[in-house]
Amino acid sequence: MSVLIVGSIALDTVKTPVEEHADLLGGSASYAAVGASFFTDVNLVGIVGDDFPKAHIDYFGSRRIDLAGLQIVPGKTFRWSGEYHWDLNTRETRSVDLNVFEHFEPKLPASYANSPYVLLANIAPALQNHVLDQMQKPRFVIADTMDLWINIAKDELLKLLKRVDMLILNDSEARQLTGETSLIKAGGKIRAMGPKYVALKKGEHGCLLFGEDVFFSCGAYPLEDIHDPTGAGDTFAGGLAGYLASSNQAEVTFEQLRKAVVYGSVLASYNVEAFSLERLRGISMPDVEQRYKMFKLMSHFEVIE
Ligand code: AMP
Repeated sequence: MSVLIVGSIALDTVKTPVEEHADLLGGSASYAAVGASFFTDVNLVGIVGDDFPKAHIDYFGSRRIDLAGLQIVPGKTFRWSGEYHWDLNTRETRSVDLNVFEHFEPKLPASYANSPYVLLANIAPALQNHVLDQMQKPRFVIADTMDLWINIAKDELLKLLKRVDMLILNDSEARQLTGETSLIKAGGKIRAMGPKYVALKKGEHGCLLFGEDVFFSCGAYPLEDIHDPTGAGDTFAGGLAGYLASSNQAEVTFEQLRKAVVYGSVLASYNVEAFSLERLRGISMPDVEQRYKMFKLMSHFEVIE
């Protein structure tokens, strides 16, 4: 089964304490679509300007990514720039130029309207709602968000939460949204806002998955070399959604979601090993499966009776 993914497609400039690179392929939908395309066909919905390099479009096309929902319009592509601190866990946004994104109205090709799996990658909640308005009856809808929208579009975000099956957000955003310091309480409070499942990302410390009376904690892959954490969360969401769509069960179960968050974590771990999507370009499914097995070995232990 295919997964519909909507979000930003960007040209990023990223600075870490040791390197800086400009005009990189980025954006929440780019990372998510490439992550999901390891598992299944992706219907990508987004917008770029006429300055967007053809090589990037060709790259999407070389993966299992359908581009009928990609709008290419006169003007400049969305640009974002960020700078990381020494711990590579915290970053400052240096600039955001919305450009063609300012007037973006996601418009679904007719054939996308009945996609069973949907990933609303990080964009304004109003646009995420607008995409759902055009869908028939998706089986499983996942949404990602960020601190900006909790600050400036909370009402629209709360409206969205009533319409999605799963919300993905990071630990500080969960605390911001709920006013809780405990992530366990925050996960429960977010579930009460609408989504049946919540995945809380904790950067290099893994993620927590919440369902009704069920809980799963997934570590992060221990990496020696992290070059650029940009897009880790989006790649995680894409891998998770892609795996769920590829298993195509009548109903998504918690068992499946546990595997999905591990696959998402595997893809995110590869993503941060290089800038932009460079590391994901160089790996294939056997690499993903190998790291998935390592996750299992690293976290398995026997209960002593
Ligand atoms: P992450 O590291 O998961 O927070 O995602 C970083 C990506 O999000 C970058 O490639 C940016 O282009 C994109 N991004 C940054 N700010 C926004 C925004 N306000 N709306 C949509 N995408 C954004």
